[in-house]
Amino acid sequence: MNLYEKYGLAHRVPEYTRDPFEAPAWLRYARTVCFDGYSPPVYPDIKHFDAERLVQIALALGADTLRFQPVGYWAYYPSAAFRVHPDLDGRDLMAEVAAACRPAGLHLYCYCPYAHPHMELGWTDDHPEYADWICRNPDGTPRGVNLHYGSAERHVVHRMGDTYRAAIRTIVEEYCAHDIDGVYFDAPCGQPMYNEFCFCDTCRRNFKDFCGMDIDRLADPDDREALLAWFHWTQKVTQEDLLDFRAIIHGSGKFMLCHNGCTWDGKALRQQYRIPEGFMVEFSTQTYQRIVHGLMGASMARPAKKLAQMYLGSYDVKNFNEPSHSGRWVVSNTNLEDGDEIRMEGW
Ligand SMILES: [Zn+2]
Repeated sequence: MNLYEKYGLAHRVPEYTRDPFEAPAWLRYARTVCFDGYSPPVYPDIKHFDAERLVQIALALGADTLRFQPVGYWAYYPSAAFRVHPDLDGRDLMAEVAAACRPAGLHLYCYCPYAHPHMELGWTDDHPEYADWICRNPDGTPRGVNLHYGSAERHVVHRMGDTYRAAIRTIVEEYCAHDIDGVYFDAPCGQPMYNEFCFCDTCRRNFKDFCGMDIDRLADPDDREALLAWFHWTQKVTQEDLLDFRAIIHGSGKFMLCHNGCTWDGKALRQQYRIPEGFMVEFSTQTYQRIVHGLMGASMARPAKKLAQMYLGSYDVKNFNEPSHSGRWVVSNTNLEDGDEIRMEGW
């Protein structure tokens, strides 16, 4: 019996936190190598990609788990919902990687973009079936952004669109049909680039249905009533999406992880960290400040040739002033949560 039950407060625990799925025990201490899907050997072309070689490199690096990325600017498997790499030629890189990982004893989960900019500006002119995926300015013109090594200016994808939301569910199903252990979502949070105001026809209609307001009111930065309605709307959409993803993923016996770099952002979905089995902390100000503080401490010890040590992480998966995580945990790219004392000389 937990404390909520003991004090008769079980009804205050949101339904979505009661999912009984148990992630595999190895996930808590996974040594994961993350394979990026926006650069060689999968972009711009895939002809040099070799799953066996990738697995051997991951093993040589000491990994016991691989995070592979089957969708970047293109899908690297024959997807029915996401544009497929023009040189794919019937290959399925997700299946190739899974087939290489299993005999090597390497765990495998896969990165899934969530409304990432990927289509080059103008691409939808020749592919109108994707026109409803893109974010539009108040005057209806498509919005673009340049990211990832400046490879091209790409359309901003609006994830509140009906067509996109149907497509991403299909993509998750396609992932789950593969022999992988879990699915990881990038940035399902308040990150502005992926969560911008959009004035496309679908958003106009859906926003009006949600709150009765004309979405053009969002063009006025001082219209707080419209702004609040938009926050509530995006949070509702995000929660629906994440719970649907989780139902598909858990339904296939796999685990779910999220990138939650902006979870503490004011615009993020409340308690979204309770939906997946765990999450990645990236570019966290607190992590950065903690390490910088440690280096400052070391700088005081070094001139006197003293040894400096520092705590990285905590004895629990929460810290002061953070909400309790009760059973969830953090996959951190700085080993923040491992509770180790790391000698400053290690840097
Ligand atoms: Zn839109």
